Amino acid sequence: MAGESSEVAEPLLPLDSPVQFALGVGPKRAEAFRAMGVETCGDLLHFFPRDYAQSQGQVPVQQLQSDQLASIEGEIIQTRAIRRRPARFEALLEDPSGRCVLTWFNQMFMAEKLVPGVRVRATGKVKFFNARAQMLQPRIDFLAAPGSKGETPDLKPIYPASADLSSRVIALIMEKNIPLLLPQIREWIAPENLSACRLISRRQAYELIHRPGAWKYVQRARHTLAFHEFLLHQLAVGMKRHHQQQLQNAHPLRTDDMVDKRIRALLPFSLTAAQERVIVQLRHDLAARHPMNRLVQGDVGSGKTVVALYAMLSAVAAGAQAALLAPTEVLAQQHLLSLERFLGNSRVKTTLFTAAVAGASRKKALAGIQDGSISLVIGTHAILSDTVQFKNLAMLVVDEQHKFGVQQRAVMRGRYTGVHTLVMTATPIPRTLAMAVFGDLDVSTIDELPPGRQPIATRAVTSARRAEVYAYLLKQVQSGRQGYVVVPAIDENAAELLSATRVFNDLRDGVMKSHRIGLLHGRMEVLERREIMEQFRAGRIDVLVATTIIEVGVDVPNATIMIIEHAERFGLAQLHQLRGRVGRGIHQSACILLFDNQTPDPPPRLAAMIKYSSGFDIAQEDLKIRGMGEIVGERQSGRPDLLFPDLLLDPFLLPAARQQALAIIQADPHILAPQHAELRRELAARFQASLPLADVG
Ligand code: ADP
Ligand code: MG
Repeated sequence: MAGESSEVAEPLLPLDSPVQFALGVGPKRAEAFRAMGVETCGDLLHFFPRDYAQSQGQVPVQQLQSDQLASIEGEIIQTRAIRRRPARFEALLEDPSGRCVLTWFNQMFMAEKLVPGVRVRATGKVKFFNARAQMLQPRIDFLAAPGSKGETPDLKPIYPASADLSSRVIALIMEKNIPLLLPQIREWIAPENLSACRLISRRQAYELIHRPGAWKYVQRARHTLAFHEFLLHQLAVGMKRHHQQQLQNAHPLRTDDMVDKRIRALLPFSLTAAQERVIVQLRHDLAARHPMNRLVQGDVGSGKTVVALYAMLSAVAAGAQAALLAPTEVLAQQHLLSLERFLGNSRVKTTLFTAAVAGASRKKALAGIQDGSISLVIGTHAILSDTVQFKNLAMLVVDEQHKFGVQQRAVMRGRYTGVHTLVMTATPIPRTLAMAVFGDLDVSTIDELPPGRQPIATRAVTSARRAEVYAYLLKQVQSGRQGYVVVPAIDENAAELLSATRVFNDLRDGVMKSHRIGLLHGRMEVLERREIMEQFRAGRIDVLVATTIIEVGVDVPNATIMIIEHAERFGLAQLHQLRGRVGRGIHQSACILLFDNQTPDPPPRLAAMIKYSSGFDIAQEDLKIRGMGEIVGERQSGRPDLLFPDLLLDPFLLPAARQQALAIIQADPHILAPQHAELRRELAARFQASLPLADVG
């Protein structure tokens, strides 16, 4: 492994020099490298092998041939360092058949490890000088003493290749250049902090990821690099937050016991233990002088709305205003309805505010929001528009924030600094992942459903049996229940997809002809949609055919059957959300997933739906099926991909990185201490625009 010392004063190959100048590259290969995202020599370090293979055995020194790439094994019998420029280090390797000179330029630290008596494997290109075999800049793996049961260092990196640059050529280029680049790698944190986490230095990690020797070193290298990446991210997030807390004043909302009692009196049920726990966390946050920034994650139907209501009423009780933002019109109305149900006996004035609220009612809402006579505003992103001027907004609740655009999220952050924020999501993710994805939020989890919920019977059925499924729907309707049919596309879409309109027409003229049936999709007028939703809620429509517009939030307890057409087209999280529309009342409910498939076996996603009912299990399964990167990418919007997204699930790495980051910020909030100079530089390079450190250094 690389030495820690002996830095070269002037590196032969500065990290920021164009890759063209790397050994063995030149203009043509540089072009090919650039096409793969490698611009500088330093980028070579980050161009990781995609896999590793066992290499072939070694060659006796005697049989070496000029220009051959070979591995030899033997004992170092002599070394010498030549210090005149360019500084050179030579070691003589001996095997039973002969001797070979190993030569390095500008890597005097090799002298520390390559001492007479050690056994190594040297891999590199062979040259003959004065009839003597030589290897220039070979890669070295240390071998165990002969006879002992050491690890055989025989893993060869396989690089992602392109048509113009084969993996083998890349490996050769790496062999030559990595050793020149390694000495320039700086450490970010003290070695003892790394070893405490059983990690190695950055320099060692980069060396090992390119030439690990054994699998266990690949692991160690990946863990170390991932840790550093997490650390940087957690630092960035932590600093932002620290800064925010220092600078932003918020209206402290102290919910005394009186207020607490009054809020609870509005609820027709007692809270679950999980809801209680989250409320304790909320009360603590809200009482602070700096803004709350909390995510509440909980499965569909776990009762997040009540928790949000508690937070909003804390603001109202303190004489301030609160707002609830929903991603869709339908959902905003749903929220308004359910909140008004709780608020029926109170004097809290609410209003709906969406793009569809127009004319006189819009004027009235705007005026009430501005003069403070309306304390609770429920709506869509229309609330974020400049025309909406709150008198004193203290609490903002955002439902399903990831459904909002980047732009809208920026407005929320920018415009409402100093406002307590509560974000809710019904697609819970594992805690460590939440830390990474929502690093700047505190995370609360409601991991329990209100009592008395019946499990939803879930079946996956090939579409060949559609008729049976609809016969079952008919039976449900005849016994007074309601149902949903969800279809992936609206209409005039890809021919093989059933459109909602067609399904609607078929049912209306067929199975459901003596029942009331409604159609709901995103291309309908908002008012029309609202009307349909209203009728379904009131029980005047028996079956609602809809697109995923009903995905979140719709709450109709009498609906007991959910049929999903082309279920194979939906994501797992989405399917789970859809299923959550039923099972909300006292009747046993069912979810039927119709799929098109050559085989009668349901695809993995549908199998997961049958197997799991909890959103947490579903999320774990989703991670397995889709992979980490995709999910993280979807949530984090605008952040570059993580190098090792799979390691986010490691139970140890991310928490360790977070802990270190917090300790660093605690001791050195602006990352100004000399021992953090490297970290600071890296933070500035990657997060410059968004970090408070930009204006200090
Ligand atoms: P979600 O977390 O999906 O937003 P909701 O807040 O819509 O869930 O709650 C789902 C249903 O459960 C609502 O009808 C709500 O009134 C009800 N509910 C919430 N909390 C409780 C509770 N502690 N006991 C009984 N019912 C509850
Ligand atoms: Mg909800």
